[in-house]
Amino acid sequence: MPEKVADRVPQNVNPFRLGLDDALDFRCDCKQDCFTNCCRDVSIVLTPYDVLRMKRALGIDSSTFLDKYTVLSCTRNKKLPVVLLKMNPEDKRCPFVTPQGCSLYAHRPWACRMYPLGKAEPERPNPSEHGFYFLLREDFCHGHGGGSLTVRNWLSEQGIDNFEMMGASFQRLMLNEFWRTEEPLPASKLAMYIMACFDLDRFRRFVFETRFLDLFEIHEERVEALRTDDEELLEFAMEWLRFSLFGEKTMRLRKDAAEVASRRRTRAEDATATGR
Ligand code: SF4
Ligand code: SF4
Repeated sequence: MPEKVADRVPQNVNPFRLGLDDALDFRCDCKQDCFTNCCRDVSIVLTPYDVLRMKRALGIDSSTFLDKYTVLSCTRNKKLPVVLLKMNPEDKRCPFVTPQGCSLYAHRPWACRMYPLGKAEPERPNPSEHGFYFLLREDFCHGHGGGSLTVRNWLSEQGIDNFEMMGASFQRLMLNEFWRTEEPLPASKLAMYIMACFDLDRFRRFVFETRFLDLFEIHEERVEALRTDDEELLEFAMEWLRFSLFGEKTMRLRKDAAEVASRRRTRAEDATATGR
C-alpha cells in the first residue's frame, strides 16, 4: 500500500494538520525559562543550502565545515546519506549555542528556524494530496501557549522563504523514483552526491579543474557566475546530479567536446612554454 504523507509524521506531534493561515499558539524568546534547551541533544539534519550558509558565515570552506561540524548518517532505508549537525561530545550541546543564544542566528539551519513546526510533503507530486505543517510538542520546550501568530507569520518571521526557494531544486532531485527503489546508489555516485550537495567548494574545483567544462554546453555568463556565486553553483550542482545520477536531460554535452579539449590543451601548453 503506498505510504501516505500522514504515515511519515513523527509520533510526538499534535495530530492536527496545520495550513498557512491556521493559528500557531507558540512563543519563543530569550525570556523563556527553556531558552536554548532546543539546542542540545538534537538531531538536526542539514540541507545543502544550510551547509552553504553556515560555512560561509564561519568563513571556512565546505570540506572543513563538514569535517569539523557534521556527522554523516543515512535514512532509515539506508539509501540516502544525511548530514547531521554534530553536537559537542562532552555536553551534547550544539557547537554554536552560547548563553545569549545561537551565535549563527542569521544563518541558522532550516530545521532550527522551523522548530516547533514540522512539514510533511507527499512523496510524489500528487494533485489529490497536499503537504501540511504539524506541531511538535516536547517536554523541554515551554513555548506552547501565549502566542498569537499564524503559521504563515511564523515562517515569515523565521526567514524561511530563501530556504524554501533554494530547497526547491534539491526537492526536485529527491523526486526521482530511484529513491523509492531497493537499488543502492553505487559508491562512485554516492561520493558525487555528497560532494555536489554538501562539499560545494570541492565541487567547484571539480567543475573548474577537470575537463568538465570541455564536455558540457554551459553559457559563458553562467560559467563566470559559477566561479564566485555559491547559490548559482548549488543550483547547478542539483542539475548536474539529476543528469549524472539519473540521466535526466538537465545538461547538454558539447558537440565539439573533443575539439574544445584540444584547444584548451594547446593554450595551456603555449602558456607553459612562454612562462605565462
Ligand atoms: S544552529 Fe543555532 S539554533 Fe540551531 S541548534 Fe545550534 S545553536 Fe541552536
Ligand atoms: S525550547 Fe522552545 S521555547 Fe525554548 S527556546 Fe527552544 S524553541 Fe524556544
